[in-house]
Amino acid sequence: MTSELNKLSVSEARDMLRKREVSSREITRACLDRIAEVEPRLSAFITVSEREALEQADAADRRLGSGDAPAMCGIPIALKDIYCTRGVRTTCASKILENFVPPFDATVIAKLRAEGAVFLGKTNMDEFAMGSSTENSAFGPTRNPYDLERVAGGSSGGSAAAVAADECLASLGTDTGGSIREPASFCGVVGIKPTYSRVSRYGVIAYASSLDQVGPFAKTVRDAAILLRALAGVDSHDSTCSARPVPDYEKALTGDVKGLRIGVPKEYFVEGMEREVKIAVRAALKHYESLGARLVDISLPHTPYAIGCYYLVATAEASANLARYDGVRYGFRAESENTDELYNRSRAKGFGAEVKRRIMLGTFALSAGYYDAYYLKAQKVRTLIRRDFERAFTNCDVIVVPVAPATAFRLGEKTADPLTMYLSDIFTISVNLAGLPGMSIPCGYDGDGLPIGMQMIGPAFSEETIFRTGDAYERSRAQAKRPTKV
Ligand code: GLN
Repeated sequence: MTSELNKLSVSEARDMLRKREVSSREITRACLDRIAEVEPRLSAFITVSEREALEQADAADRRLGSGDAPAMCGIPIALKDIYCTRGVRTTCASKILENFVPPFDATVIAKLRAEGAVFLGKTNMDEFAMGSSTENSAFGPTRNPYDLERVAGGSSGGSAAAVAADECLASLGTDTGGSIREPASFCGVVGIKPTYSRVSRYGVIAYASSLDQVGPFAKTVRDAAILLRALAGVDSHDSTCSARPVPDYEKALTGDVKGLRIGVPKEYFVEGMEREVKIAVRAALKHYESLGARLVDISLPHTPYAIGCYYLVATAEASANLARYDGVRYGFRAESENTDELYNRSRAKGFGAEVKRRIMLGTFALSAGYYDAYYLKAQKVRTLIRRDFERAFTNCDVIVVPVAPATAFRLGEKTADPLTMYLSDIFTISVNLAGLPGMSIPCGYDGDGLPIGMQMIGPAFSEETIFRTGDAYERSRAQAKRPTKV
């Protein structure tokens, strides 16, 4: 029995812990054993913090024994290596932060710590969250648990793979253009990017601040709902963070979607996408009809401009955010004779190729003479994309589309051509530009046994509807999870 405890869902573990049927130490031990077993092949983690995790588990057990049991108390989870964790190395998968040990916790980490959650370690990702495959990590790529020759998706690939391979019960990622939803889809797990501002970004290493959002990966929609409730809420350290009260998302899981109007945008079912992905999502839509939901044809006409718009806005913000890595204040410092050389060499040696490409793109877009033509234009396009959604949501309650045009691709397949890599995010990026919530849930497997994901998108702060929609599918139709290959 003990050897299977790592396979528990968060809600199962929570209930068992509260009844004292199992201890946090036992579940944590099972996860650590699983990590030791599969990591040599999977590489989902950059740092495993075994000693700290066991200490946290023991503290949680004491707390559970005294009858004080917040939802996350004693639950072992993994954290994308983008979250500042007090006393535990935080690299952002970059050489430039290779030895950075933050003196403080990100707000979401502090919240989970206060609930008594157990942190197993820090997961692999694309350097500074720039990428769609976790191949841009300075620590080597994470592999897909369903096919070790394929990518786990990105940028939060380690967090998605760790949940899929049962190395942890759940994990945290971040999503700037699809970095939670795409890897969730590739690894067959649930992942939600909440509404922009729903969760504090304080202590989350910044990539593109107007797009970045924190969110969970989980084995079930219910688990994602439990985690988001623990993460969300106002924070005096992040002035963009919303003061709206946080609902009890679990209460929204009624299983009932009768009368729900599901928008189906024609721009998301286009030529060039994999046939099996299209078939799986169409079948899921049919299933929703059988549950009493109504399908509504909608249009999001500015979708074709989303990727171009994103790569101006995101890179412009990145070029400003990454200016702080100068070799003086954090992490890596190159040998040098004078200050200019110190900056230049530290940045030249500390950043990887994709990060440099983005800094250059962003600096160009913001430079005098090009600002109006590129950056300002992109901001206007961003507004048009947001309005597309506003218009669509006058006719529907939620939009259901694929997460990515294809299932997990092979390692190395897209690394030589950044543009084809950028296209992996065609169905996720608009949601970030519009600041909306989007969730990926598994909806089947392709002929090679690779997971397919479908995405539900809602108006701002409609996470309850999104969870209800996902949960209704999961209860009534989701296939049993296939065993992974690790
Ligand atoms: N793949 C996109 C990028 O490379 C999105 C990444 C993310 O969401 N962090 O920027």
